[in-house]
Amino acid sequence: MATATTCPLTGRVGLWTPARELRPQARAVRQELVTDVDRCPFCDTAADDERLVAGHVEAGAGRWFAMRNIYPPLDGPTGTATLVVGPDHGPTLTHLHPAITAAWTSVFALQQQLAGRAPSRWSLVTTAIGASAGASQQHPHGQVLTPSAVPPISATQQRRLSDPQVLAALLQERHAVADADGLRLSAPPVPLGPEDLLLLPTDAQPLAALDPGAVARRVVGWLRAVHELRGTAARSRFDPTAAAIEGPAPVDVKVLLHAELPDGTGRWWAELQVTEAHAPGVAAAPLVDVVHPPAAHAERFRGRC
Ligand SMILES: [Zn+2]
Repeated sequence: MATATTCPLTGRVGLWTPARELRPQARAVRQELVTDVDRCPFCDTAADDERLVAGHVEAGAGRWFAMRNIYPPLDGPTGTATLVVGPDHGPTLTHLHPAITAAWTSVFALQQQLAGRAPSRWSLVTTAIGASAGASQQHPHGQVLTPSAVPPISATQQRRLSDPQVLAALLQERHAVADADGLRLSAPPVPLGPEDLLLLPTDAQPLAALDPGAVARRVVGWLRAVHELRGTAARSRFDPTAAAIEGPAPVDVKVLLHAELPDGTGRWWAELQVTEAHAPGVAAAPLVDVVHPPAAHAERFRGRC
């Protein structure tokens, strides 16, 4: 029996149905890994490269640096896009390698720094890995998108999030997956796919107060659970001595971190998405159907993150 639900936060309408698995599935297309560094726009960036933006983070996963978005160069009156770039191609941000938490900590710390430079504007902090997540190439990187005006949907979502009833619906115990460091991982009322989770600070917190290490631990916990549920944990382990060093991302994901509004209302919140498990193309919006309703969805992930 299918059930229809509206997400009180995102406004998405979803149809939960046990028949979802019977539908044809899109096959993930693994992105070609550029091994020739001359073909990668980020590799071997010279110290005097005019695209570089001041700021870098070293937190145990190499030197992550910042650069203007280059395809296209987005920097003008309507807003800016800045890239956060990792030091090399392997491992990616979805390989389970020993420094993965440090890598995600580096991403969030530098994104937080960059967003903090435009306090009068709203920023979307996003990291896409793999072709289905919209990443145009393999080099580990994320983005900080700072439009000159807050997108109406983002203002609406922050207003909904400040409604105690909406917050209570999102934080209900039966949808909870894991709690730590004042952060709640939970099953979204209407995800875009069956492996997506929500990440919320349990108390309202601006992006400037986000603890990059704590958020990185929750994201990595989610990735471990995704690999365990998919049976890909062994394949995703990164062995720098093996040929797998050139392997593409073992799973495509997107992490979308929404900042509070520029007037200080609202809180940061995040969507963790396994994009390759989303319904393809036109089927993705606005109706979404997945196998597990929120409580069962949370149960699958609980104890694994
Ligand atoms: Zn590269």
